[in-house]
Amino acid sequence: MCASSSCSAPSGHPDLSIVVPCYNEEESLPILAGALADVCREMRSRWPGLEAELVLVDDGSSDGTATEMRALAARGDLPYRVRYLLLSRNFGKEGALLAGLEAARGQAVCTMDADMQDPPSLLPRMYEDLMTGEWDSVATRRATREGEPPVRSWFARLFYRLINRLSDADVVDGARDFRLMSRPFVDAVLSLSERNRFTKGIYGWVGFRTKWVPYGNVERAAGETKWGFWGLARYAISGIVAFSTAPLAIASVLGLIFCLLALAAAAVVVARAALFGDPVAGWPSLMAVVLLVGGAQLLCLGVIGQYLARTYVEAKRRPVYLVREEGEGPGPAGE
Ligand code: UDP
Ligand code: MG
Repeated sequence: MCASSSCSAPSGHPDLSIVVPCYNEEESLPILAGALADVCREMRSRWPGLEAELVLVDDGSSDGTATEMRALAARGDLPYRVRYLLLSRNFGKEGALLAGLEAARGQAVCTMDADMQDPPSLLPRMYEDLMTGEWDSVATRRATREGEPPVRSWFARLFYRLINRLSDADVVDGARDFRLMSRPFVDAVLSLSERNRFTKGIYGWVGFRTKWVPYGNVERAAGETKWGFWGLARYAISGIVAFSTAPLAIASVLGLIFCLLALAAAAVVVARAALFGDPVAGWPSLMAVVLLVGGAQLLCLGVIGQYLARTYVEAKRRPVYLVREEGEGPGPAGE
């Protein structure tokens, strides 16, 4: 079985591109390359003539990741072509992913992490699903959050509940960035030109037909995670700001509630003074109210500031990433 257009695809357009963003992954890369080689061989036995390329994006690593990529590209024994992009600095995973997606030439494009937390062995099954033509993308999600600190899980769940309430993008809890996409799906994702890229939201927003494949959590093969608590918190906030303007509406409603409360309180004070000649005394209560209202005002200003800052960044239209060097190895071995 083979995709109708893909068997005859010119070598410039392989059947499958595998995009991997890498940040300090010198230890994981060789493991990943080996695992992908096995998977590719398996796939080529099922889909003869299948051409695959591996698009590695070095997100400004400070270790030997770039050297490792050049070495992989120079190897002639891999069943896929290796291409690599070295970004000029660390742009974050979203930037690296975009760089890889834009560079990918495949009819089907798969994105996955370098650390083997996205099992490459799922790929043949996902490819088979995509090839049925019933789906435009086959995405994976973690079935459980086992092995994760409970506090992190709790915040993660809160985030997914919030963003799905607040936005029209369907963001699936536990969705991984391990996803196989058809060319039309990739083109749709790339047509969203925003700089503040929250890919999980973008995938949901573009729609199309997505099949979800759950799998158990897998620990990193080597190296360590780049996500600290505050990094994740910032990511969550930018996700919500990118896909919902509800916080702005909430700020207005909050303002309205405070106005009504203040009017009611003023009426009570005036009535008491007029009827009983009893002016309310005490600055502690006054201070409490002033601080509360002041706090609410600052909070709302902050919310507006978040949107304004994003608008500013979008208005500058700076590139999401810059490439310092790119390279490409020889075609896949065994042809
Ligand atoms: N990554 C990246 N740029 C960054 C941070 C991470 O390209 O600034 C890559 C990283 O190399 C890995 C993937 O994104 O391939 C996922 O990162 P990580 O494993 O640290 O995240 P986690 O799996 O813990 O969510
Ligand atoms: Mg990981």
